[in-house]
Amino acid sequence: MKIYNTLSRQKEEFVPLEEGKVKMYVCGPTVYNLIHIGNARPMLVFDTVRRYLEYKGFEVAYVSNFTDVDDKIIKKAVEEGVSAAEISTRYIAECKKDMADLNVKEATVHPLATQEIDGMLKMIQTLMDRGYAYRAEDGTVYFRTKKFLPYGKLSHKNLEELQAGHREIQVTGEQKEDSFDFVLWKPKKEGEPYWESPWCEGRPGWHIECSVMAQKYLGDTIDIHAGGEDLIFPHHENEIAQSEAAHEKPFANYWMHNGFLNIDHKKMSKSLGNFFTVREIGEEYDLQVLRFFMLSAHYRSPLNFSRELMEAASNGLERIRTAADHLADLKAQTREEAMTAEETELFAQSHAFVEKFESAMEDDFNTADAVSAVFELVRFFNTHAGESSSRDFVECSYARLQTLCDILGIELQRQAQSLDEEIEALIEERQAARKQKNFARADEIRDTLQKMGILLEDTREGVKWKRA
Ligand code: AMP
Ligand code: ZN
Repeated sequence: MKIYNTLSRQKEEFVPLEEGKVKMYVCGPTVYNLIHIGNARPMLVFDTVRRYLEYKGFEVAYVSNFTDVDDKIIKKAVEEGVSAAEISTRYIAECKKDMADLNVKEATVHPLATQEIDGMLKMIQTLMDRGYAYRAEDGTVYFRTKKFLPYGKLSHKNLEELQAGHREIQVTGEQKEDSFDFVLWKPKKEGEPYWESPWCEGRPGWHIECSVMAQKYLGDTIDIHAGGEDLIFPHHENEIAQSEAAHEKPFANYWMHNGFLNIDHKKMSKSLGNFFTVREIGEEYDLQVLRFFMLSAHYRSPLNFSRELMEAASNGLERIRTAADHLADLKAQTREEAMTAEETELFAQSHAFVEKFESAMEDDFNTADAVSAVFELVRFFNTHAGESSSRDFVECSYARLQTLCDILGIELQRQAQSLDEEIEALIEERQAARKQKNFARADEIRDTLQKMGILLEDTREGVKWKRA
């Protein structure tokens, strides 16, 4: 398996630190607002990487943080007159809902910056002890970039050139030794959340949290560190400096970065105001269409969001789902029979598309080509599965299609279909609750269904339901 490593700017053969295991860290969002579909790109891309690694039999430890202490969160809290914790708790819950709707698997651990302050204090102290950090008069602790000689190795920037270009950017009032020194700890301002520390009452800088969480949950050296390409510099460069200065070991062996999701060929971002939230797109489309749209491009290429491309994605997904529905119908219609010799041969032939899918994924997760292989598989089954097929052939074909779609995180069921199933499960649960005389739960479910616009009718054949 080959992975493009930002560190070497090359595709490299993937060799995990420990056989059969992958330790992976993906920088997560700062939680002060609903996430936009640009933020969803790394979530979808690296969830797909994880799914493929798991399909290959690796046990993946997947860690992705929520940055829950930050200027933007504090600003939003002040605007609303609530605490910063209230803002971050709210938007973590919203983000988790969006991730579930995008069929992004829960991380093995979703650490929160505010829960890891002790680890940050320890790492900063280690950096101080080793001479990699210093305290300015106002209590701010900075990382001494000049002392970390490989600084710039990820972004392939030369510190001296950078410094020449940055000499004028010294912010007044800052007491840094050097313009590229970055904050590890900063003093509190009135009304802000703060923690005690040996340097001042204050809070951590942004970069230190990822270094600490990656080490705590995965170890000193990890296999894959990932995020959007805007994080290469300075965020990931600074993470490397902190972790490697503190532990004297390589921080991550493979650095993966996704390209931007653009709109009118400009990066979608909160600050430019040119964004759509996942929630907004979810009102217009089944979010599986968004997932399919994202995976139709290579993760390192820029991707321009447009209605035309979303329509194309919607049509493509529909083609796959129609084939799956057809196979599901055949499953119900065909007689229980083993494959004929001819079908066994056909099924073996269809493996060529699985191989094509796998070799696309093995080549730096080329999901665009993997999706093409799925289309070819669909075409093959459309041609070869029919009313005269054995049930075994139909079932195996369905399972093969499902396996590939599962790797991409694409659900074969349509949204309405899965909603119907959810409603039916609730109705069944309500019946069971009534039987057990748990009327409180039964009423609660009735209210939930009512809110969903579902009308219930007791008939002799059982409970019937319809949409209001
Ligand atoms: P933020 O909350 O801005 O720190 O972003 C969280 C993650 O989303 C990071 O990995 C960013 O690199 C990524 N990201 C933000 N905007 C975009 C975009 N327009 N396209 C792709 N990735 C993005
Ligand atoms: Zn990070």
